[in-house]
Amino acid sequence: AKRNPNEPEFMQAVKEVAETVIPFIEENKKYQNKMLLERMVEAERVIMFRVVWVDDAGNTHVNRGYRIQMNSAIGPYKGGIRFHPSVNLSILKFLAFEQTFKNSLTTLPMGGGKGGADFDPKGKSDNEIMKFCQAFMTELSKHIGGNTDVPAGDIGVGGREVGYMFGQYKRLRNEFTGVLTGKGISFGGSLIRPEATGYGDVYFAQSMLETKGESFAGKTVVVSGSGNVAQYAAEKATQLGGKVVTLSDSAGYIYDEAGIDAEKLAYVMEIKNVNYGRISDYLNKYPNAKYVAGKRPWEVKCDVALPCATQNELNEEEAKTLVANGCICVAEGANMPSTPEAVTVFLNAKILFAPGKASNAGGVATSGLEMSQNSLRLSWTSEEVDERLKRIMLDIHASCVKYGTEKDGFVDYVKGANIAGFVKVADAMLAQGIV
Ligand code: NDP
Repeated sequence: AKRNPNEPEFMQAVKEVAETVIPFIEENKKYQNKMLLERMVEAERVIMFRVVWVDDAGNTHVNRGYRIQMNSAIGPYKGGIRFHPSVNLSILKFLAFEQTFKNSLTTLPMGGGKGGADFDPKGKSDNEIMKFCQAFMTELSKHIGGNTDVPAGDIGVGGREVGYMFGQYKRLRNEFTGVLTGKGISFGGSLIRPEATGYGDVYFAQSMLETKGESFAGKTVVVSGSGNVAQYAAEKATQLGGKVVTLSDSAGYIYDEAGIDAEKLAYVMEIKNVNYGRISDYLNKYPNAKYVAGKRPWEVKCDVALPCATQNELNEEEAKTLVANGCICVAEGANMPSTPEAVTVFLNAKILFAPGKASNAGGVATSGLEMSQNSLRLSWTSEEVDERLKRIMLDIHASCVKYGTEKDGFVDYVKGANIAGFVKVADAMLAQGIV
């Protein structure tokens, strides 16, 4: 804590991993020396830089850009870029730390990284977004590369922003390489990448439900967020027979008792991805739904909950409400959406609980598949990518079961994911000597 003052999110993420990994290290001599965990919590490199851009009215703005290069033991740094006014060093270090374990779990050769800026994309024109992305990439381009560090999207960074950043990188370097993932299909993007995090989250939840002889069919599903992850989690849960009744954004949530089916979801995608609007706009077309301002959807009775918005969006009280209402499965689509107290509630209640680093790894896994396709200069079909995604999620589930099964048969997916992720990175670090 002394070395990382004012970094509560980073401390929270490290503590959660340490609590499960330290007992494992104590039982396994091989991991006891060489300051392994101490090295893992120290980023290999942190880059912070000024981003200056001019808005449509001619005013100059200054933002702060970041790239955290956390760990490259098993592959080039890999992790998303977040544009949100809340972005700071603590949040990006927590995300980069989590990413290292997540990427290890995917079985693909990717190290951990994360980046972003405290830029607020809300209300900005397309031209302003492009100007910002170009200014941001002008500095970032000095620190990344296809074999060094391969960023992707995250909150506030979707296909449009990745496209503008890729264009700027290419202009600066005179080089067409797979330096970013989440690219458009016409310039090296992978099919299923936009869907991958949400789909993967639901595939993971499905594997968890199967261990109890259950499935999505007939289940009521509560989803938070209405961005990339939430949209495709809702789509897949619906395809598998679930009834999704909520979506949200930072201003409130919508509750549609009849279920947000494919047609309604298409309208949500139009609101969010084409018009960059608010989830409350849903009621313009579907007035029978309810909009609850200033609240989160966890008070709605459900069987399965998929938190897909942001960190610390589900607290202890809300976790208790979910459990009391009969929720049997929580699979995190976002990164660290449940507070540590909420996680304790789920684990004590012995319901199925998947931490984001396991259940949302489908996004980065498919980014890894995009890197493979770029290196091969080939594009796989949707079916091929989806099949690989499913296989990877099954493998991650199996790793969690392997390392997380308790004596009474209960699977602690938090412990399982942390230890499985740790082992591969730790082995690689030990083999590469003290660096
Ligand atoms: P988007 O920007 O597409 O959507 C984010 C959603 O979360 C929006 O509905 C947004 O609402 C809401 N949100 C953002 N900040 C807050 C906040 N402070 N309080 C309440 N709601 C908020 O992002 P993604 O869907 O890509 O990312 C969502 C989560 O999933 C993040 O935790 C991200 O790290 C994680 N993730 C994403 C991956 C991906 O492939 N995209 C991969 C793995 C994890 P509003 O519009 O009001 O801000």
